[in-house]
Amino acid sequence: MPPQSLAPAAAVLASVKNAVNEVYDTAALRRQDAAHYMHPFTDHAALAEKGVRVMVRGDGIYLWDSEGNKILDGMSGLWCVNVGYGRTSISNAVYRQMETLPFYNSFFNTTNIPAVQLASLLVELSPPQFNHVFFTGSGSEANDTNVRMVRRYWDLLGYKGRHTIISRYNAYHGSTVAGSALGGMEGMHEQAGTMPGIEHIGQPNYFESGMGLSENEFGIVAAGWLEKKILEVGPDKVAAFIGEPVQGAGGVIIPPVTYWPEIQRICDKYGILLIADEVICGFGRLGTWFASELMGIKPDLITFAKGVTSGYVPLGGVLVGDRVAKVLTEKGGDFNHGFTYSGHPVACAAALENLRIIRDEKLVEQVAMKTGPYLKAKFAGLSDHPLVGFTNSSGFVAGLNLVRKKAANVHECELFEPSQGVGMICRGHMFSNGMIMRAVGDRMIIAPPLIMSCEQIDEMIAKIRFCLDATLADLRQRGWV
Ligand SMILES: *Cc1c(COP(=O)(O)O)cnc(C)c1O
Repeated sequence: MPPQSLAPAAAVLASVKNAVNEVYDTAALRRQDAAHYMHPFTDHAALAEKGVRVMVRGDGIYLWDSEGNKILDGMSGLWCVNVGYGRTSISNAVYRQMETLPFYNSFFNTTNIPAVQLASLLVELSPPQFNHVFFTGSGSEANDTNVRMVRRYWDLLGYKGRHTIISRYNAYHGSTVAGSALGGMEGMHEQAGTMPGIEHIGQPNYFESGMGLSENEFGIVAAGWLEKKILEVGPDKVAAFIGEPVQGAGGVIIPPVTYWPEIQRICDKYGILLIADEVICGFGRLGTWFASELMGIKPDLITFAKGVTSGYVPLGGVLVGDRVAKVLTEKGGDFNHGFTYSGHPVACAAALENLRIIRDEKLVEQVAMKTGPYLKAKFAGLSDHPLVGFTNSSGFVAGLNLVRKKAANVHECELFEPSQGVGMICRGHMFSNGMIMRAVGDRMIIAPPLIMSCEQIDEMIAKIRFCLDATLADLRQRGWV
């Protein structure tokens, strides 16, 4: 028998459609995976020991693995499947575009219809200062584009040395060299993930650093670190500040409401460009089309990816505000930057249909008015659990901190030792009970598909509670609580 991976495409499709009843040779797939597939952000020795999980099908908010387990996807894949799995209108749009024009580039005085239409639609959906879009294949490439774009902007204006970009520790801006350098993940910096001209300031993490202050006071203090860094570097050297409105991969770090307006004020004071990395926060995640609206800021550039296609096909890009676009298009000459797949017609067709769904099904309004507030209330209810020291949420992202001993003042909770890996233990209980919830240290986070209903939120919260109980029992058995 040929290995499963060599089955003809039609047979694979048919078997995926019937996956619930299909029997897979999971052991063989695992062996092949371990032998040949290098995974992103993975310790392969550890993975080979545990055995990889093979996902075979998705529908709505659920996934099925090759062993027939049904799993509630509390993470929307990787923060991206906003409209849920199994949307045939997206696959049909992709199929039609592939049949008509699977590819053409946008380099040599040419364009394609989906790219034009998508650029126009994004301009319509985004804040008023945005009238231009630069397409890339991913969020990382979009942030690389930002680096080159803001440096080019200042060069064209005659400020040659104005190249420093300020970001934050524990930020995530992707995994290309520029993406990981912009990001604030030490583990990435250590592995050749740095470049000159990038500086970092502290993150607005109230749970970790807000000791003795109210949330609003802390927001002003944390934003002030930007001004301190600008003065240290020299205002005439700083090109831009970049930040995620809510940090995602860093652990759903929701800043105090005072933070972003103060960041905007400081950027304005020194004429520094503001980049909002909305790869996670865009397209309804926080109950607005773009989180900048919610945070009360007016960025010059917005990074997007993930939710723009709900992950069905890779696509990213930069919304270019008038301030930058004017300089680049009027003074610029050639901007020597772009990708083979910039404005890929199939990816743009997927995005157009995905955004149509979000708009026609009023998913942004639903998260803002109905399911977001419902999730907030239910998720906050988890704080009565003995392991939960702090919870918060914004729209359809939420997080809770696992603690050894709770306290009325969140800054007085007793924490576990990081080396105990309690978050990962909890994630394991979630995973084996059909619930995907991610662990960042001892903070457990979710970002569910925007289609999730109130009944499904109830189901998810019940699953989380059940798994928190399982974690507590496990930790008691180890004598850790
Ligand atoms: C995922 C992510 C990126 C990187 O996007 P890729 O498509 O993985 O390159 C950049 N910024 C943020 C905020 C992200 O969450």
